[in-house]
Amino acid sequence: MQNTATPTHCPYCALQCGMNLTPTPDGTVEVSERADFPVNRGALCGKGRTAPALLARNVRLTSPLVRDAGGTLVPASWDEALDRIAGELRRTRAAHGPDAVGVFGGGGLTNEKAYTLGKFARVVLGTSQIDYNGRFCMSSAAAAGIKAFGLDRGLPFPLEDIPKSGCVILVGSNPAETMPPSLRFFTELKENGGTLIVIDPRRTRTAEQADLHLAPRPGTDLALALGLLHLVIAEGRVDEEYVRERTTGWEDARAAAMAHWPEYVERITGVSVPELRETVRLFCEPESAMVLTARGPEQQSKGTDTVGAWINLCLATGRAGRPLSGYGCLTGQGNGQGGREHGQKADQLPGYRKLDDPAARAHVAEVWGVDPDSLPGPGRSAYELLDALGTDIRSLLLMASNPVVSAPRAAHVEERIRALDFLAVCDVVLSETAALADVVLPVTQWAEETGTTTSLEGRVLLRRRAITAPDGVRSDLEVLHELAARLGVEKGFPTDPEEVFEELRRASAGGPADYSGITYRRLAEENGVFWPCPAVEEPAGSLPEAVDGGEDALLDAPLPDDPAGETPAGETPAWRTPTAHPGTPRLFLDRFATPDGRARFVPVSHRAIAEEPDDEYPVLLTTGRVVAQYQSGAQTRRVAELNAAAPGPFVEIHPRLAARLGAAEGDPVAVVSRRGRAVAPARITTAIRPDTVFMPFHWPGEGRANSLTNPALDPTSRMPEFKACAVRLEAVGEDRAG
Ligand code: SF4
Repeated sequence: MQNTATPTHCPYCALQCGMNLTPTPDGTVEVSERADFPVNRGALCGKGRTAPALLARNVRLTSPLVRDAGGTLVPASWDEALDRIAGELRRTRAAHGPDAVGVFGGGGLTNEKAYTLGKFARVVLGTSQIDYNGRFCMSSAAAAGIKAFGLDRGLPFPLEDIPKSGCVILVGSNPAETMPPSLRFFTELKENGGTLIVIDPRRTRTAEQADLHLAPRPGTDLALALGLLHLVIAEGRVDEEYVRERTTGWEDARAAAMAHWPEYVERITGVSVPELRETVRLFCEPESAMVLTARGPEQQSKGTDTVGAWINLCLATGRAGRPLSGYGCLTGQGNGQGGREHGQKADQLPGYRKLDDPAARAHVAEVWGVDPDSLPGPGRSAYELLDALGTDIRSLLLMASNPVVSAPRAAHVEERIRALDFLAVCDVVLSETAALADVVLPVTQWAEETGTTTSLEGRVLLRRRAITAPDGVRSDLEVLHELAARLGVEKGFPTDPEEVFEELRRASAGGPADYSGITYRRLAEENGVFWPCPAVEEPAGSLPEAVDGGEDALLDAPLPDDPAGETPAGETPAWRTPTAHPGTPRLFLDRFATPDGRARFVPVSHRAIAEEPDDEYPVLLTTGRVVAQYQSGAQTRRVAELNAAAPGPFVEIHPRLAARLGAAEGDPVAVVSRRGRAVAPARITTAIRPDTVFMPFHWPGEGRANSLTNPALDPTSRMPEFKACAVRLEAVGEDRAG
């Protein structure tokens, strides 16, 4: 094992910060700065810095666990555990049909794992019932992007474009807490004379940096965008030539916006007409401008229309498909982008192909060596799949997800999981969901395996193995290989990630997310490659000569000290043929990915959230994240430093609301919705609207925010409405029982 630093990327969020890993005598790694990766330039947040803590044997699982006759999870051999899973899946299929077996993946899985999981579900199990937790993350933005541009890639431009733009509107995004190293792009934007506008019901750490902060009522971002477009039209700021030359559908979108008068929008959103006018002025006056959304507008039962309204604003003002301008989504999960491109989503095949497209089925079936007619059709979306557990779906294989904490209406989801005939979970730790399983398989982590991820920029990156996993732990690819063999499919499920990637390249070739021109060699020598990157004739072999010999050799081959500096800017690297496709950092500059090359306006109108406050539940609840925890917290709650910084849930509450309740700082407060009750200490602050409370969702148990959230689904993206539901508050305690 080498003792030199291995350049790789963080295991957590979609920023995929570069970092160096050096093995330590205790079998883990030390994280150090990797300055050559342009996105974070060496900076890391606390989560990335402390990620090695999870490699310690006393924190993680190192043996398969099988539930015994007495109902206790006990250590078992790999053969015993795998035989049990294969036997149960086979039994379920025989008794109830292939769709009685469900598969649930995660946005943290590498591209190779996501690809293999989708193939395993459709080829080995023959089930249509596969989806993943990324459905909860950015699916509304994906749906809106496909409607308008014909393609979904989170950011159609690199992050480095942000500081050069004239104005950025951040809608429902708090990068100061979710991806702190990215904040410098917005700081530099301001230093360069650009304007930052933040739209968030809370005055977050990001909002504090803004030139203008608008705090709309949760769930009204759609009306807000329509009101801004109304003013753009009324003030004569439409870029008529752009609309004529590069778009379709303007008249219907225009008519819809004209029905949203600023005063009407003010009444809906709580954002004043002067604030709306100022936003339009700041957005329209510079030569370039961007709108970036995140979970705020997306996690709504009208999330697709909401994002569509923001895209319409960009199109009407000529701010899409032009340099330093455009709409983008700040994807959240580590491989949220790649995870939705390669087949673990209910309706997709690799390369972002559609499962109901006969040509796509034929192409992928040929790569897989199966009859296209044998591939099942589209299945249920994530929440609908979880809701069907124990009824239509009797057995579930789950990887890298913890829905007991992260799913909406979590108590119901937990009940459905308990109703399963059989649950198998692959995870690093015994998460709250794994603790309910019949079999738990301990799997390798980022520092122990090689694979690719695709960052929020659409940049495909190579995460490289730095150390050997401890005895007793296997990779997800090995798990799927072993299960496929036990279920009668001996070939087609390799355990070498590069071999999987080579197949993924072929499966994605010609699809919207075309990776066919990307190789491990390129990823190792460049700082990632932006898709689409179609294959152009290249010499055979993907690994550099120095690392021929597979993954172990790759592990021992350090990258050049300064890979980006090896080749002068604008020149082709010596090892790459002159014809190789360079990748596509910036999309849509010449044409959009629609059949006619024009972006499509989609007419949208304001509508209420699924559950408006009423006399019984008079307050709005919105949920989100804190800087020291990540998603369901299954990993970060086990890291002492992060736990000390963010030890538990809280309810952020305005002083006026707290006074009405009689609650002081730190008092336990019960938040009650139609779906459940959660109790957490009050955190009293004027940074939130008086009609709204906020809870972070990282914790299980009494303070579980998702006990309250509403699974009302967006009709297109099937995204649940995490961001707004009606609740009431109750004081808790002997002297103020309520
Ligand atoms: Fe990791 Fe995201 Fe933190 Fe970067 S911002 S170190 S990718 S968690």
